[in-house]
Amino acid sequence: MKIIEELYRKARELTNLNSIMALLQWDQEVMMPSGGGAGRADQFSVLSTLIHQKITAPGLGKILQELSDNPEGLSSADLSLLRVLKREYDKNTKLPEKFVADFSRLTSEALPVWVDARKKNAFKLFQPLLERVITMCRQQADFLGYVDHPYDALLDLYEEGLTTNNLEILFGNLKTELSQLLQQKASEKKPIPENLADMTPMLLKDQVHFSERILAEIGYDFNRGRQDISAHPFTTSLGHSDRRVTNRFRPDSLEFIFSALHEGGHALYEQNIAEKYAETPLDEGVSLGIHESQSRLWENIIGRSHLFWEKQYPLLQESLPEQFQNIDLDDFVRHINRVHPGMIRVEADEVSYNLHVLIRFELERGLMEGTIGAADLPGLWNEKYQHYLGVKVDSDANGVLQDIHWAHGSFGYFPTYTIGNLAAAQIWNTYCQFDPDHRQTLLQGKLDKIRNWLTENIYRHGAFYPPADLLQKVCGEPLNSKYFIDYLKNKPEFSL
Ligand code: ZN
Repeated sequence: MKIIEELYRKARELTNLNSIMALLQWDQEVMMPSGGGAGRADQFSVLSTLIHQKITAPGLGKILQELSDNPEGLSSADLSLLRVLKREYDKNTKLPEKFVADFSRLTSEALPVWVDARKKNAFKLFQPLLERVITMCRQQADFLGYVDHPYDALLDLYEEGLTTNNLEILFGNLKTELSQLLQQKASEKKPIPENLADMTPMLLKDQVHFSERILAEIGYDFNRGRQDISAHPFTTSLGHSDRRVTNRFRPDSLEFIFSALHEGGHALYEQNIAEKYAETPLDEGVSLGIHESQSRLWENIIGRSHLFWEKQYPLLQESLPEQFQNIDLDDFVRHINRVHPGMIRVEADEVSYNLHVLIRFELERGLMEGTIGAADLPGLWNEKYQHYLGVKVDSDANGVLQDIHWAHGSFGYFPTYTIGNLAAAQIWNTYCQFDPDHRQTLLQGKLDKIRNWLTENIYRHGAFYPPADLLQKVCGEPLNSKYFIDYLKNKPEFSL
């Protein structure tokens, strides 16, 4: 067998094992009875050990080395597969097995303590474990290696090539503009329309019906996916033709609409990857940031626009007549675009959102540099919320303890949310140049035109291009925060 064929064989095996893992996870979130937890943990442990052994196997290392030394005759897809697998192999082999086991034990210990500390609003309970997580994350950075900053090693885990220096430039441009814009918009304080404030509770079946309808409108293929219910919405891939989304439905919250569009955006990306990459690691979105750019594009840029709702609002009124027939379109659109700075990141509006991320970025950078320690976090957190958002944090539960990421040991993850928001605006700007009639396109609900352009330029490539190369190729320049700031400043829905 040719050596490149051997690489494809190993890639296929790894990809299928990862799909099986995704199926177990999906089942745990969606279907598993509560008693199934212990058995499932054992299954995860067996399967993740198996995957780890396969990705770190010396045999694979030898093949990767040989192909890297002799790339002649390899196609561009072969070279891409080689790049992606080599990255995985390096990431996994640089960490000693004992470190991986210790880190996994520590984070499973930290998780319930974080839950408890948040419930009791007692940061002190979580602090000793958080200190250990931080120490291990710094060790992780040392094992992985970096040139300028330990934080770079962790950022690269989630967004290939992203550095602290890149983020300092991006956030440097954002923070002044966003704080000013926030002050201006928040001072306008628009009331919630009365009919929306005390809306008749929505029935689950009506919400499910509308969310499926809107998913179908944006082009989500239900023959190759499905929507289920889970505690937190997510998208997962169980194979090339099985990309699933979940949602949650509360009788009095419109969140389900935007979760459907958000997860739908993630899923559209994956459903439209070229068939030729099936069963390889190229059959997925290239990075968390680029993935998030697609969810945010559909959720916010398209999904909160007046033009989009001119076509879609009658469908909402039809699906939930009791709630929406007496609310006019302008009120609805104004409501879903309210700017309202608050304590909680996941509830943030488009203007505030990246300031929440900026705060986490500054803290994580300091923690990795060693200039701040876990004990400083609550005080600094509250100070920064006051400074950047003008918000007084009322408790650690609503402050420094609100996110799960640090208990998971995921330092370097938060900035990918902002990368996604910025890239979404930049990609949309490029689309608008391609389609000067984009207003009409939205107004008439010709969403397939947008989806086809995204497929041609982004989706079909899967993980073929590194994220920065992809963005350069699509937009003709590197990531730039200017487009996002312009988008917010000119967003007509804010002036309704
Ligand atoms: Zn997302």
